[in-house]
Amino acid sequence: MEPGERESAAGASVPLARLRALVASLREAVSNRFLSLRAKVVSLLTLIGAVLVALAGIYTIYDFRTSLDLQAWSRAAGVGDAIIYAARNAETLTDLEPVIDAVAGAPGLKGAAVTGPDGLVAISSLPSWKGKPLSIDVPLKKNEPVAIAQQKRLGGYGRYPGDYAFAIDFPRMGERATVLVRVDVDQLASLNIADAWNLMMWLVITAILAILSISLLLHRIVVAPIEALRHFAESGGKGKAEAAGPDDEIGAVARVLSASFRARSEGEAQLITLAATDGLTGLGNRSHFKSRLMQDIAACEREEGRSVGVMILNLDNFKDVNDTLGHDAGDRLLQRTAEILRGCARDGDTVARIGGDEFGVIMPDIKNADDALQLASRLVRAVGTPFRLGAQELQQAACVGLTLYPQDGRDADVLIKNADLALSRAKQEGAGACVLYRHELHLRAIERNTIERDLRTALARNQLMLFYQPKVDIATGRVVGAEALIRWRHEERGFVPPSLFIPVAERSGLVVPLTKWVLDEACRQNREWQDQGLPKIGVAVNVSAIDLRRTDLTDTIANTLIRHGLSPKFLELEVTESMVMQDVDVVIGTLRRLRSLGIGIGIDDFGTGYSSLAYLKRFPVKRLKIDRSFVHDVADRRDGDVIPKVIIDLAHALGVKVVAEGVETADQYERLQALGCDEVQGYFAGRPMPAAEFEVFLRNSPAGGLRRAERPAAAGGSAA
Ligand code: C2E
Ligand code: MG
Ligand code: MG
Repeated sequence: MEPGERESAAGASVPLARLRALVASLREAVSNRFLSLRAKVVSLLTLIGAVLVALAGIYTIYDFRTSLDLQAWSRAAGVGDAIIYAARNAETLTDLEPVIDAVAGAPGLKGAAVTGPDGLVAISSLPSWKGKPLSIDVPLKKNEPVAIAQQKRLGGYGRYPGDYAFAIDFPRMGERATVLVRVDVDQLASLNIADAWNLMMWLVITAILAILSISLLLHRIVVAPIEALRHFAESGGKGKAEAAGPDDEIGAVARVLSASFRARSEGEAQLITLAATDGLTGLGNRSHFKSRLMQDIAACEREEGRSVGVMILNLDNFKDVNDTLGHDAGDRLLQRTAEILRGCARDGDTVARIGGDEFGVIMPDIKNADDALQLASRLVRAVGTPFRLGAQELQQAACVGLTLYPQDGRDADVLIKNADLALSRAKQEGAGACVLYRHELHLRAIERNTIERDLRTALARNQLMLFYQPKVDIATGRVVGAEALIRWRHEERGFVPPSLFIPVAERSGLVVPLTKWVLDEACRQNREWQDQGLPKIGVAVNVSAIDLRRTDLTDTIANTLIRHGLSPKFLELEVTESMVMQDVDVVIGTLRRLRSLGIGIGIDDFGTGYSSLAYLKRFPVKRLKIDRSFVHDVADRRDGDVIPKVIIDLAHALGVKVVAEGVETADQYERLQALGCDEVQGYFAGRPMPAAEFEVFLRNSPAGGLRRAERPAAAGGSAA
């Protein structure tokens, strides 16, 4: 290839390469970006439409040109016929002149000429043509016009059509000549152009109509079904699968999808039902109960004046049935209870098993508390009818706690919690009791008031007493201290546990004189034992959060010690973790003052609160008491000793002694000893006992190490 050719080839390949790049980038854009099927179809049809319109244009131009050529030729041929006829009879060339003049005046004709024997124009309708030669590049035919290039010398444009030539004979002269006819193509074109536009318009309209029909058809049979299928798939099978398409491939895909959606939703529904059902009784479970209660509350909120009743029924001593008759019998009993509750429930009520032996009933349209109580006692009576379980004749008692929306709580959790509280009260009242929450509240208030009143009297009349529980050194087995625990023997109620009256005392402020009394009594007693020559031990007194926040606590304690002549090293105060974590700075100040007096501080129930280790370092603490709940599992083979070990190591790292409270067995004792615990307190070493009994216990306390065989015996003492 020559350099010139190569350049032109290279020049041609540049636009081609650009075109290719454009197509490639278009293809990438289409494939990479999401274009809806509808957009794709519309673009494709638009492209086809544009091509059709272009083809219509090309065809119109082609048709315009061919019909123009045909008309021009037939004009030339018409003129030619007249000239040929005249030539047949002409004697001389000039005989043709009138004919040429005549035909030249015909419409659509610009001129006509005949050449002489010398090949120059001899006769012409236009004087300017005369004497000029013709240059004809195509072979001429006789008597039939042929299109030739326009004769430039005769004022033509070269390639522009319109000039026709043919050969003629002059039989009389025995000569030949060439005839030139120039048709007025411009005039013909202007006559034809309207037809061409008409044709073009019809073709374009036809193309547009065709495209529209195709697009409608495509929309109906492809786009719309695929869009419906997409909607069907995206909505997870909502609507009818048939909507996605007729009985073709799209329809088949829709049906397969629909089947899989159906299978999935059936599976989910089954799971939801299973998750909300109690397997044993077939009733709803606790979560079902709660969600139904929420629905019923929501429905009730919309209607003014309606109430929802919530009932929790608990079987009395169900554990005994399991333990004595076996778990199968227990299961049968639960199933029977479920059947009875289901049978007694009214339309719209929900019955569920919400715990091991606990059932819940929701009464969504209860009129008043009396109605709820009536239904509850009907259920309790029905459950209580005697029945046979295998060979046994049984009678099962039950209790019910009741709450009413909206009076007893405005949300499901509160209503269930309050029904539980009412149930606890019902259990206290005994078999078959049904208690309304608001009665329980009332009772509790009365009880609190009674306790407060009686406690005040007990304090004034000196009806309280202290029990002492020994703390034993784990290495030597010797009693090294005692915890003073308050006891109240009520004239009518009998023994009232501190867990019941201490909170009442704290709330009413009675705890301040109470602590004063305990401190006084414990110090007095300790001094008395020392005076009797018993081993000198420290006595621990529990103080409450309220005591700890009183500014006169240090003075009170100092005065008490002085009054009884007891050295501060024989007194220890027990504070709980949660107490010291509130108002930390105030508490630390108080504890430091006490510590500076020489009084020991012990942190009680350690591990149950949330003490920050950073604070622990700042507390002037002498002892940590590992809470009973951790000691309980310490001998457990698995990982029961993890927490006690961490507490012991932590305490030793801080230089603090560790006491384990609630030690009940030899295994626990030995495990704690192995873990490096310093002291133990609990029923194993000795129960809390009255002062006189403790005195004997202390007197008999071994001077040396506690031998293994002696330990259980040493663990005697009164039950408290
Ligand atoms: P605490 O200070 O943690 O006392 C230990 C509790 O555990 C005592 O219960 C004791 O009888 C019990 N206990 C001891 N060893 C064992 C054992 O081996 N097994 C089991 N299961 N229990 C054991 P108590 O006497 O009923 O006292 C309960 C709580 O009442 C005390 O817990 C203390 O917080 C408070 N308390 C007792 N007396 C007073 C007091 O004089 N003033 C104040 N503010 N609170 C007191
Ligand atoms: Mg204590
Ligand atoms: Mg404790």
